[in-house]
Amino acid sequence: MEGEMRRREQLAALGEAAAVIAHEIRNPLGIIKTSSQLVAQRTYLAPPDERLLGFVLDEVGRIDRLVTEVLDYVRPNRPTMRLALLDGIVRKAIDFMMPELEKRNITANVELADHIAVDADADQIHQVIINLVLNAMEAMPEGGALTVKVEADQETTEAVLTVADTGIGMEPDVVHRMFDPFFTTKTKGTGLGLAKVLSVIEHHGGAITCTSALENGTSIVIRLPLKQKKIAYAELDTGR
Ligand code: ADP
Ligand code: MG
Repeated sequence: MEGEMRRREQLAALGEAAAVIAHEIRNPLGIIKTSSQLVAQRTYLAPPDERLLGFVLDEVGRIDRLVTEVLDYVRPNRPTMRLALLDGIVRKAIDFMMPELEKRNITANVELADHIAVDADADQIHQVIINLVLNAMEAMPEGGALTVKVEADQETTEAVLTVADTGIGMEPDVVHRMFDPFFTTKTKGTGLGLAKVLSVIEHHGGAITCTSALENGTSIVIRLPLKQKKIAYAELDTGR
């Protein structure tokens, strides 16, 4: 357990350093962006130069997204807890992702039990689901099946959210490191998606587990404390 604590401290220090760097990159990046845009608008450029300037703007956009992700990950994220329906939040997130899933030949099996009440920050849980679905999508480049399930475990009084794919799966050592900030196996990945997911779920007093088999797929299960008291509908936050 001592080793695990040290590892966590090191990861926290890494996160802080990343935050400082990300913040310091933002201003000069903004100046590069506006200056390049002005040159592009005001100057007649020969086509090859226009292409080069296009590269500059594309890459500036990429750095900008990376910086935003880093800052989003390290920003203190105390959730604003409200009584919410997990099934409603999941429904909206899946509806949002549906066009992209269809485009990628992924069929979605969605099984949502009714009225799964939890104390949650709906925006943060929305983001969690989006991150998990993005990973599932990226694990199925040739298409496949996505299963999203919400149910209540009455024995443990927990809400259970499952996101499973039929994608490439993971080696055991990847499963071991998947939640580490900046751990990625993708050329264009940031390795921050699951680190953010874990941090949000921990702040919600929940737990997350993963089972994965190489070439067979991955299943992520999130458990959150279930609210069981009778709720007036007006009190509910059903998502966005
Ligand atoms: P990123 O997606 O930017 O790589 P994440 O934190 O979201 O960062 O994921 C970390 C790593 O965990 C991924 O690079 C990938 O190797 C692995 N991973 C996560 N989800 C899945 C999945 N559904 N199937 C296979 N591998 C996955
Ligand atoms: Mg990801």
